Amino acid sequence: MTVPMDRALTLEAAKKLDAADPLSLMRDQFCMPGDSQNPEIYFVGNSLGLMPKITDDYVQQELEQWRKLGVRGHFEGDFPWMPYHEFVAEDMAKLVGARAHEVVVMNGLTVNLHLMMASFFRPEKQRTKIMIERHAFPSDSYAVSSRLQMSGLDPEEHRIMLEPDAGELFSAAHVCDTIRKHADSLAMVVLPGVQYYTGQVLAMKEITAAAREHGIVVGLDLAHAVGNVELALHDWDVDFAVWCTYKYLNAGPGSVAGCFIHERHAQNSELARLAGWWGQDKATRFEMKDQFRPIPTAEGWQLSNPPILAMAAVRASMEVFRTAGAMGPLRKKSLKLTGLFAELLKDRLGEKVNIITPLEESERGCQLSLEIAGGDGKAVYHALEESGVRTDWREPNVIRAAPVPLYNTFEDVWQFVDRLARLL
Ligand SMILES: *Cc1c(COP(=O)(O)O)cnc(C)c1O
Repeated sequence: MTVPMDRALTLEAAKKLDAADPLSLMRDQFCMPGDSQNPEIYFVGNSLGLMPKITDDYVQQELEQWRKLGVRGHFEGDFPWMPYHEFVAEDMAKLVGARAHEVVVMNGLTVNLHLMMASFFRPEKQRTKIMIERHAFPSDSYAVSSRLQMSGLDPEEHRIMLEPDAGELFSAAHVCDTIRKHADSLAMVVLPGVQYYTGQVLAMKEITAAAREHGIVVGLDLAHAVGNVELALHDWDVDFAVWCTYKYLNAGPGSVAGCFIHERHAQNSELARLAGWWGQDKATRFEMKDQFRPIPTAEGWQLSNPPILAMAAVRASMEVFRTAGAMGPLRKKSLKLTGLFAELLKDRLGEKVNIITPLEESERGCQLSLEIAGGDGKAVYHALEESGVRTDWREPNVIRAAPVPLYNTFEDVWQFVDRLARLL
């Protein structure tokens, strides 16, 4: 199929966009999989972000500390382990639109979700229910159900399942109306910032306002939102949020997760929580007193001393985001990159591919979720893999593909669509 020249959707045009891209040098800061002659087209940064080259040094540095200093590494060197989590708080807070004392890096995402529910799910009288979406990521759904069970509540009765209202998508009005409709029985809402299957960005601000108006606690899962879209958790007045750091944040497989607790709560030492010594007031932590006095910040929810080797990779990740100028420039590029992706798909593939992600800029991030019309999507996914194109397959019927502004190029996008067009 020929590409109409007037639409400027040629390979040359894509290369020109790369040449003019102020972030084009960032790609060189990452280890790209595949061999240099034949690099992979890596569109799964939404699943496992690529390794920044500096991560090697950051992790080695901590091994070196341990080798040379042993236990003294907790207090000595440029980045002592005792306050290590503090070195990432400010940059991480910027990425989610929070104040540094509202953010802590600790545990895994699902662990943090449980810790947050332990503090914030307070079923009272009629208000005993938690709203989640019908097709929530399974871990979130298991976490919510088991939390209800721990509170002696039947998950079948006490989960309110938010159904999509437009195909697989949610309109803001529908989500807000559903919250209002159930306000009398609803204690908490747990929703994603970006839905993992469709890639839709939910109207976090409006949804939070609708829930908070009725005194309903709002918890967001930002696994697919952080490092992808701009967030303003503090200003939106979200109660808590959790995210992982191995997707768009590139901190490595299973790396340490993030957690936001709005300062309204973070500074409240009276708030019940599952406590551990790392949440104890720093001045008295080592007095080993049995009275728990939490740090009056998000750090007051820490349980254990953190895994420093993984934290070093988070620190490297924050350095990379700082170099890129944080989310402003990245989002700007991302809108163009994914915009070109959608345009090329339409142009080259027309009806053969159905993009289920909404194309409104406010409702999409990096990812497009593709259904192969009238074909075997899974076979197409495997054929893409064979040809060195990394995407992922999500049951029942979607190929997720995410060009990431830190290391993907406009040319990658063009090549991806070209290979897909040849396959179909
Ligand atoms: C990736 C992802 C998780 C992962 O949970 P972990 O506790 O980090 O293993 C959870 N929820 C959503 C929505 C995700 O996309």
